[in-house]
Parts: sequence; C-alpha cells; structure tokens
Amino acid sequence: MPELPEVETVVRGLKPHLEGRVLAGATLRRDAIRSPIPRDFAKRVAGQRILSVERRAKYVWIRLESGDVVIVHLGMSGRLVLLPAHIPNAGPHDHVDFTLKDGPTIRFTDPRRFGVIDLLRDGELGQDRRFKDLGPEPLDAAFDAAALAAALAGSKAPLKAALLDQRNVAGLGNIYVCEALFRCGLSPKRKAGTVKRDKMEALCASIKETLSDAIKAGGSSARDYVQASGELGWFQHRWRVYDREGVECVSCATKVKRIVQSGRSTFYCPICQR
Ligand SMILES: [Zn+2]
Repeated sequence: MPELPEVETVVRGLKPHLEGRVLAGATLRRDAIRSPIPRDFAKRVAGQRILSVERRAKYVWIRLESGDVVIVHLGMSGRLVLLPAHIPNAGPHDHVDFTLKDGPTIRFTDPRRFGVIDLLRDGELGQDRRFKDLGPEPLDAAFDAAALAAALAGSKAPLKAALLDQRNVAGLGNIYVCEALFRCGLSPKRKAGTVKRDKMEALCASIKETLSDAIKAGGSSARDYVQASGELGWFQHRWRVYDREGVECVSCATKVKRIVQSGRSTFYCPICQR
C-alpha cells in the first residue's frame, strides 16, 4: 500500500508536469471508485489551470484556478501514471484520464478500487471528514517532540497504535511506523503516554529520518515512474524490520518478531526495542 513517502514521490514527480498547465478535460470510466466521483467532475475541471500539486497525509491535492481542489487517494493499489503523447487504450483498471492542454495525460489506475477521486471547494477542505482532524505533517517543523508529547500525553494506547492515529500525526502508515520505532529503539507495545522526553526527541527524529530517507530513495524511481515504467517508488530494500519476521535483526542478530496490533502486522526486535 502506498504510504506517505510514495505519495510524496508521486507529488514531486507530477509537479513539474502539472503546475501552471491547463486541464483540457477528464475522462471518467466509472462513476465511483471507493466512493462516488462527483457527477459534475469532468465539467468542473475542464479548461482549468492547475495552480499547485500538494500532499496532505496520504492524499494528493491538485488545486485549480476556479478554487476547486481535485483530491486523489491511491488506496491499496492506485497509481497515477504520466503518459506521453501516445496514449495506450484504457484497460479495465484505468478509471480516470486527466488530459492536459499541450502536455501528457495522467492516468489513474486502481485494480482493487480502494482509491479516491473527488473534488472539493478550497474552503471545504478544513471541514471535510478526511482532513478536519488530521494532526501535523511529520516532515513539517511544527511536528516536534513537544507537539508529539502533547498529543500522546496520558495515552494508554500502544505506541504503534498512537502513531497510526492520524489525529496525532498525519500520514504515518504501518510500514514506516514499524521502521521509525526500530530506529529509535522503542517498543511498539509500550503505552504511548510513558515515553520520556529524551526518547520522544529520538522518536520524532526517527520518524522524520525514516520518511526522508525513503523519499530520497524514491527520487530515482520517481523519474522512471513519471517517464516510463509507471511504477511507484517502493523502498523494500531499505526496510530494517518491516516484513522481516524470523530474519536476524540488523543490529543484534535476534530474530525479528511479528505480532498483530489493531488488526495489522507489527514487526520489531524484542531486544533492541524497549
Ligand atoms: Zn535487535
């Protein structure tokens, strides 16, 4: 499933091709993906200049001159692919094409259909259920040990669950929470409210480093992604504990454990993480 670094990679890949360009139109091949696509979507985006492409949590926001904002979520299997002048025939999973005036076509493909294509007014973003309770962006300066400590104060939730809670910090998913906790030596099972200030500093730094490293690693694959292969940047080779059950910990050679927390797999080292 694409997480924050993958979505950031997509946004950075799209920016130079989209910002300042005019959308000629959109071809919708379904009226809903995970949720309905607004009926007037194609009409509202046609002829609009794109002001900016941004990421909020795991959503892509494409701001149009009219004040509308195209919302894209990649769900479990969604991809946004830039197609050059020659556009291949759409397959069964190619749900939406955005056509740019004098530019490439952007195709939204999503076999499992957990993705989202939506359109909101700029002023509605702050009240929308998907965005209104979101915590700070982990890569922003506003996200620091003090902010995280305040968010987690008194929490009896397991630390992993607290970090997946989008109200505490936006956009963190299963993979990068596992990786960030390993990096700073904190157990995913400990109560979130028990993390001391120095460890909170380390946790905060780990989250930022884990995400930044993944984005950096995705930079080269992002170029491929926008030009040819259509693949999102995936960073498996960088994972230190995620998906490594039974494999020796890279730091102490103890076998990495897998447990299930709130229905999701957690991978951690029982010796390094306390
Ligand atoms: Zn270890």
